[in-house]
Amino acid sequence: MVRELIFWLSKKPAVTQAVARRGMKSGFARRFVPGETLAEALGVAEEICRTGRKISLNQLGESVKTPEEAHAARDSYITMLRELSARHIDGNISIKLTQLGLEQNREMCESLTMEIARTAKELGLTVEMDMEGSALTDVTIEIFESVCERFDNAGMAIQAYLFRTEKDLERLARFRPKIRLVKGAYREPAKIAYQGKKDVDASYHRLIDRLLAGDFSPIFATHDPMMVAHVQDAVRRLGFPANRYEFEMLYGIRRDLQEQIHAAGQPLRVYIPFGSQWCPYFMRRLSERPANCLFVLRSLIAESSRQESSHN
Ligand SMILES: Cc1cc2nc3c(=O)[nH]c(=O)nc-3n(C[C@H](O)[C@H](O)[C@H](O)COP(=O)(O)OP(=O)(O)OC[C@H]3O[C@@H](n4cnc5c(N)ncnc54)[C@H](O)[C@@H]3O)c2cc1C
Repeated sequence: MVRELIFWLSKKPAVTQAVARRGMKSGFARRFVPGETLAEALGVAEEICRTGRKISLNQLGESVKTPEEAHAARDSYITMLRELSARHIDGNISIKLTQLGLEQNREMCESLTMEIARTAKELGLTVEMDMEGSALTDVTIEIFESVCERFDNAGMAIQAYLFRTEKDLERLARFRPKIRLVKGAYREPAKIAYQGKKDVDASYHRLIDRLLAGDFSPIFATHDPMMVAHVQDAVRRLGFPANRYEFEMLYGIRRDLQEQIHAAGQPLRVYIPFGSQWCPYFMRRLSERPANCLFVLRSLIAESSRQESSHN
């Protein structure tokens, strides 16, 4: 219920603008988004990599409206790749196809994606493609397939809540691809997606086993300790090589679990989002865990009492 309410509020411009005005300034947004600029994200990335973890950089923003915006997003992704390489940061980038104009012009989007994958390949880096709402699943998979036909450095997210996902994996197996398994972050209808946590978790379990049984290089992107334990048991039992799988978690979420995985010597990548359009991402993180709202409230209360005492 609280989750639905926050999700609903996250679509209200008046609310998101109010959050956006204060989030970075008063600091509460930095818990999940280290900053608005690439320089800030790279600073955090360097710190994380120094501890032996990897990172994935993601410039926030979805659904561009014009070809110019799509080309600008391509340019930023390429700059991100060049900076990672120049600074010897052990990381890659995560891209969203709607930022590259998927909803306006599929051919343009595919060609921009190809340019990004080619640049990454030349620099010896990898690219991960995020998966968005179900209206875009087919076309995202098709573009991923054409990238895989030309390059071997791309990965893609698939969502455990969709009924179709096991079939999609069968279709993709021929590329032996890097697959990021997520539970799924969008609201999808009951005719195509599991709705309850129990069913989504059961699907995630099955897909862990499927990925570890095949020729995939799986990325387990979850903060769920039960899923993490299932992966840890399975890789141990199967003797699955540590250089063929990894865990991936969002910056600032379940830092305790991230620490535990890293301390156990298991591969961990931290997904670092940054950019001026951080608000919808931030609101999604709040909606996933209403308890997160408490620290926002605490931070706002502390800020207004600071302001009051400076006015007094
Ligand atoms: C690296 C990465 C990449 C992703 N890429 C995509 C993508 O491309 N497409 C897509 O649809 N989704 C993506 N997601 C989001 C994903 O689909 C889920 O919505 C999100 O990860 C929450 O699911 P969970 O597996 O953590 O499990 P849940 O069952 O949601 O949570 C399990 C536990 O994790 C902790 N937790 C989860 N979320 C939060 C939070 N916001 N704050 C604090 N604690 C929390 C809590 O302890 C919770 O009990 C990605 C997630 C990660 C980690």
